[in-house]
Formats: sequence, C-alpha cells, structure tokens
Amino acid sequence: MAFITGKFPGSCVDNIENYADRIECTPKVNAAVLSRGLTNGHHEFRCLAVGTAGEEVHIVVHWPEYDVDSADRSNEYWFVESFYGVADQVVFTGTDELHWQRIETVWKDGWDLHIKVTLPEEGHLYVSVNLPFTVKALQQVCDRFAPWRVTVGKTAGGMDIPAFRFGTGKKVIWLQANQHVTEVCGCHVLASLMEYISDPAVDLKDYTFVVIPSVSMDKMFMDQEYPEYPVNINRDWGTRKQPETKAIHDYLQGMAAEGYEILVMVDMHCGWCRVGDSGGNITEYNHGFIPNDYWERRMRYTHALLSALDYEKPDKIWWCDFPPVQTFFQYGSQLYGALCSTYEFSRFQIWNREKGDYDPLSQEALEKLGKQYAKFLLSYDFEEV
Ligand SMILES: [Zn+2]
Repeated sequence: MAFITGKFPGSCVDNIENYADRIECTPKVNAAVLSRGLTNGHHEFRCLAVGTAGEEVHIVVHWPEYDVDSADRSNEYWFVESFYGVADQVVFTGTDELHWQRIETVWKDGWDLHIKVTLPEEGHLYVSVNLPFTVKALQQVCDRFAPWRVTVGKTAGGMDIPAFRFGTGKKVIWLQANQHVTEVCGCHVLASLMEYISDPAVDLKDYTFVVIPSVSMDKMFMDQEYPEYPVNINRDWGTRKQPETKAIHDYLQGMAAEGYEILVMVDMHCGWCRVGDSGGNITEYNHGFIPNDYWERRMRYTHALLSALDYEKPDKIWWCDFPPVQTFFQYGSQLYGALCSTYEFSRFQIWNREKGDYDPLSQEALEKLGKQYAKFLLSYDFEEV
C-alpha cells in the first residue's frame, strides 16, 4: 500500500502538522508535509510517497482556505491566488532529494491541486510543489566545496552560515541566495557556479568570489529544534539587528578594511508569481535617485547581463526609488557603491534567449545558468566607460 510518510528536512518545511489535514492521498494518508514561507507567504507542499514499484498515488492538496478568504485582494502581492495560478506548472518529483523533474500529471479543481504519480523502482518518490533545494543538497555542496569554506558567522539559531571563497584577487564578487526560505532557485544556480569557478583551469583573474548558497539556514532546518523567528532578514540591512545580516556586514567590512574593492553583490530570490507574469526581474534604481555616472555604470552592466544570460526577458527590470536601506540591494549599493542587484527568479519559468520565449522552470536550466553566469562575470569588462 502506498502512503505519504514523514516529514523530511527540506528548505521549505514549516508548520507541517497544522496543514496535514489539507492533504489527501489515495490509497492512504499517513502523514504529510505542507510548507509555507513565513516571510513571503508563498505556499508550497512537499511529501514522500512510499509503496511498491508501479503503484499509482493520487495526492490532493487543498489550498489554504483561510488565507484565500482573509486575503486582501487590493494588495498586488496577493500571493495565495497568484501562486495557486501556476501551481500545476511547478510540481517536481525525484527519488534522491537532489535531482528533480517537472511532471505534468497535475490538474486543478477549484482550490484543490491534484497530483498523480507512479512509484518508480525505488518504491518511493518525493513530490514537491515548487522546485526544492533540500538540506541534503546543501550538505552535498558543503562536502564538495569544503576546501573553500570560510567562516562568516552564525544564524539566530546558532548555525554556521555556509560560505565559500574562491580566488585571491582584490575585487570581490559577493553572491548570496535564499534569504527567504522558499526562494531556492539561486541555491541551484550558485551550486553550479561554484562547480565552474572551483575548476583550477578557470582563471579567476583579479577577483575573489564569496558565495553563500543559503543565508536562511535556520529556516532551511526549521523542522529541527531551532528557534523560529518570523523576521524578514531582507528588511534588516539598515539596522542589522539579526545575526545573519550582522555577520555578513562584519565580514564585508573586514574585507573592505583589508583593501578589497566590493565590486559586485547579488542577492537571489524568487519573485512574486502573478498569472501572466513570470515573477522574475532584476532590481534597479530609477534614474535620478543615485549619481548619474553610477547609474549609467549599473545600466550598462544590467543590460549586458540580461542580454547575455538565459535568465529573464531583456526588459524585466523592477525599478526602485531610493528609500532608506532595508534590503540587501540598497545595502550593497549605498554602503559600497557596488553593482548590487536583487535577482528575482521566476518560480515557474525561465527565459530561453535562443527561442525568445520562456521554458518551464527546470533544475537543469538553473544549473546551466550558473555556469553561464560565472563565464559572464569573468568576461565582463567592469572598467569600460
Ligand atoms: Zn525573497
């Protein structure tokens, strides 16, 4: 008999028991995993189906009625409906928590999402709404790149924030992802980028890369006994009260004091899904809010990036005014004058330049993008005027 079993550590795991009653499974429900991002409210579901090879499992996820009823529909971030709008495009399965394939045997009926899978030879299958990046995947990254690991600091829960440093040049390229727990596209991109830049045959020129694949370690391990705090770390970069922001700030200040130039800073997220919009973009300043030469330098870089990568449509810039420092984007730009950007990835599609259209999101496409992005950074002429 097939059944849904146990919670397992993953990047999206949270408040599982509260939502188990929203999941049905045929033949039988044992336990289930439903997750929701605390800071951004995107709802995702993940479970493990166990049975015999060839057995068919039918899972029904009831979308949270409470949130649907109480939602403020005037808010553009009315995420429950907008994410549900694409939920049938983002169901992934895998047997090892590392490799995920999108499946199409998914359909919606009212506020229910139906998922049908056939159990493979292994007799079990992980099923996920939202492409995951699991704790197991992160542990694999930590093992693989152990020689490059550096200490940046600890989270509120006392966990080390895994950081990796490549190269010895005096210009810093700082890349981080996953401040928000369900926003894991950047984890895949950065894991693949590290694979590329760790190759001794690759010339890292005068750069030092510092890569943090998951800033939000506490939430990554939320099903363990770490304190839960509903803080949006990406609104804490002005005062830096959270250990995570303070640790990263102290590390950057240390590098700056040692004479490093903080050249590029990137913070990877997954954007707000809206029906008819990928949710992906690059954050940039509106004209007039920063010195003109700095703005023009940023524009050259951002447009070059958008036209060189299979990331997003060339016009996908989200224009920002100049409010006080809250997010990492403002922090990096205002404190270091860096080419500091937020990359929002779409949760359900990814741009294909050759086709001039989107492909469905896949782990493979994100990994390809990681290497493409590394090559772009190493070939872009930052001195160009
Ligand atoms: Zn985010």
